[in-house]
Amino acid sequence: MENNCIFCKIANGEIKSDFLYENDNFFVIKDLHPKANTHLLLIPKKHVENLNDFDAVNYGAELISTIQDVTKKLGIESYKTHINTGKDAGQEVFHLHVHILSNVKLT
Ligand code: AMP
Ligand code: ZN
Repeated sequence: MENNCIFCKIANGEIKSDFLYENDNFFVIKDLHPKANTHLLLIPKKHVENLNDFDAVNYGAELISTIQDVTKKLGIESYKTHINTGKDAGQEVFHLHVHILSNVKLT
């Protein structure tokens, strides 16, 4: 838990947010300001600032398989993913997250 990190607060329940999907190490919520019909954020439960600090060797495959699992569960076959790493690249929340964007409208 990092002080004043919004995604840590969501991860530990301090701030309420609906988890569309959750497993041991990741959870998925809707983005507050959607830029597509469906705009999800896949977030590791453990605080890590961005991809530069992410333990890809131990958790990289699980991050990808979590994207596969959540999109499959929600019936989303076509989507794009992006990760902003660093302020100059547009990162605003400094807790790693993967944007998942799709034209599919969730009911
Ligand atoms: P980034 O620019 O990659 O850091 O993206 C941060 C994203 O987090 C933006 O798309 C925001 O709309 C989103 N966001 C910020 N606060 C919240 C929140 N409390 N719940 C859901 N999404 C959030
Ligand atoms: Zn955090």
